[in-house]
Amino acid sequence: MTHTNRLDNLAIFSGIPAFTQKLHVGRPNIGDRDYFMAMIGVMLDRRWLTNNGPFAKEFERRMAERLGVRHFLAINNGTIALEIAIKALGLTGEVIVPSMTFIATAHALQWLGIKPVFCDVKPGTYHLDPACVEKHITPHTSWILGVHLWGQPCDIDGLQAIADRHNLKLLFDAAHAFGCSYNDRMIGNFGNAEVFSFHATKFFNTLEGGAVATNDDGVAARVRSMRNFGFVENDFVAYEGTNGKMNEAAAAMGLTSLGSVDTFIATNFRHYQQYGRELADVPGISVIEYDEAEQNNFQYVILNVNESMAGISRDELVEVLVAENVLARRYFYPGCHRLEPYRSDPTTNRDLPETAKVVEETMGVPTGTAVGPGHIHTICQIIRAAVTYAAEIRARKAQRLMATLV
Ligand SMILES: *Cc1c(COP(=O)(O)O)cnc(C)c1O
Repeated sequence: MTHTNRLDNLAIFSGIPAFTQKLHVGRPNIGDRDYFMAMIGVMLDRRWLTNNGPFAKEFERRMAERLGVRHFLAINNGTIALEIAIKALGLTGEVIVPSMTFIATAHALQWLGIKPVFCDVKPGTYHLDPACVEKHITPHTSWILGVHLWGQPCDIDGLQAIADRHNLKLLFDAAHAFGCSYNDRMIGNFGNAEVFSFHATKFFNTLEGGAVATNDDGVAARVRSMRNFGFVENDFVAYEGTNGKMNEAAAAMGLTSLGSVDTFIATNFRHYQQYGRELADVPGISVIEYDEAEQNNFQYVILNVNESMAGISRDELVEVLVAENVLARRYFYPGCHRLEPYRSDPTTNRDLPETAKVVEETMGVPTGTAVGPGHIHTICQIIRAAVTYAAEIRARKAQRLMATLV
């Protein structure tokens, strides 16, 4: 395609958008439709729609096997899974978390009356800085909640060492990290428990869904009971509980996704490589890398925009792409600590300079099975044109703004 070879052709300046339909980040991956529909038929025939049904049990068994973990407990979404894990593990007081994460990580704590203490990311990474964690430990700190952002495991060993030194425990938000490994062991096996999300926008979905994975039998028993109102057996409630059950349609979708998960990952990997190849010589634009010695799901292609080298800011680049119907996304702008209720609380809205930098420089671009190599080629051409004409784009935008002012 040659439509982006000239400045005038950019849609931001009244050119025709490169795509007639919007390309989203996180468009659902759909596995074998016939298999899914057949399972829905079976579900309706047997009139077993939820409450630890046969599909939910099968899903749990196969997921535990894939991760090599003792217990995999399916939950109705990732946020409830976090909340149940927090309750089952007995988190209290203050919990140290990164601000560079989806708001649900912080909200799950706050919702249960636990104070999230935000720490910065380690320079050059996107993950919780163990040195920052250690500085923020107080007598009220009970846990560290690490996040495997974009499927890159955080510094598990570094956090574990601090946890051991201070007698703290470790929970991980692994919402992005199903299918990823750390030191050749699958995510799901670390800390006292790990929590997954299978929301529609994650590469592996159960429509809505989540899970708690743990190798601790006691934790598993409490999660199992708490997701079902605290019931341990009929008419016997042992704990405070909630409704976190995964229904049969969701579990059927999970089994469907499981049938295609290796195809999803292979597609994501090809897309990640293509972006890396096609953008390799574009100044100031880099694709954040995954450790290819480990397993990864490659579900996020994240670009880092170095404004001084690219001549264009991340926000300007997003604007150029959105005009072309490429709905690139900022992650996780502006950081949890700059969102309510944390923003208005001087004890949670602290200065996190590395996080502030990362949320200004990173963006996600479309990948997954809803896009193909042709789409990605065009997206990369648009990015290349935006960088090539960065100065002219700025000048024209300024001119346009002036015109509206006179
Ligand atoms: C998606 C996500 C969640 C929440 O999961 P849901 O299934 O949408 O409730 C939590 N943490 C992170 C990092 C996420 O990306």
